[in-house]
Amino acid sequence: MNDPVLFLDFDGTLAPLQSHPDSVWLSDKQSDLLRATTKRIPTVILSGRALPDLLKRIPGDFLAGVAGDHGASRIFRGKSYVQDKAKEVRSLIPELSSLLQQHIHSWSGVHVEEKEYSISVHYRHLPIAQWAAFYESIEKVGSSSYFESLKILPGKCVWEFRHPMINKETALLWYLQKLAEERGQLRWPGQPIMIGDDTTDWMSIKTAIGLGGTGIWVGGDLPDTRPPHPLHLSSPEDVWKWLEFFQK
Ligand SMILES: [Mg+2]
Repeated sequence: MNDPVLFLDFDGTLAPLQSHPDSVWLSDKQSDLLRATTKRIPTVILSGRALPDLLKRIPGDFLAGVAGDHGASRIFRGKSYVQDKAKEVRSLIPELSSLLQQHIHSWSGVHVEEKEYSISVHYRHLPIAQWAAFYESIEKVGSSSYFESLKILPGKCVWEFRHPMINKETALLWYLQKLAEERGQLRWPGQPIMIGDDTTDWMSIKTAIGLGGTGIWVGGDLPDTRPPHPLHLSSPEDVWKWLEFFQK
């Protein structure tokens, strides 16, 4: 593949999921491999984490790009950008987050994570029998027309309130454009490779395949079985093995 660009999710792709997201870190060896990779192939991390949180966990200075909040806030070659729709919805986030915080008092095993441009409602520790009722209840909280630009989108044991145009596929296309501009070209001549493990990565994986590139799904069942089909790696450990092999 000529001129590939590597896009990587973080949690569940580069590092195994933990019950507490604060305990997810890369090893020194993994950070070194990521640095070595980006020297050879422009490498971009696309994560649902808030950008400041993500930057504590990866060698951000070395990467071509880092995007947090599902692509709402982006860094390219050290310069910060905010996606247009993210600017529009930013003022709604603290208000909806406050309503959700009040609402979840009647539930155990859930918590609300307010980010700058989106809200994550985590329910990993909620009994499975209560998942459907919990979803219905938070859907009601966000149903006011005042919050209509924020949609509830699914992730792994998390419901995300965000603008639907804030997503990893639009971020992937934006980074390809920035890389092309950097070279003085109208469009990037090579193909993207996108590796991710969650429903929030699925459309960006399909976008990479649609552009003639490679999509790689990490972990268990695919969100849907319709073509195009991605390649498959079973765990973050296999992603690191693939990264090592890919550079040889
Ligand atoms: Mg993930």
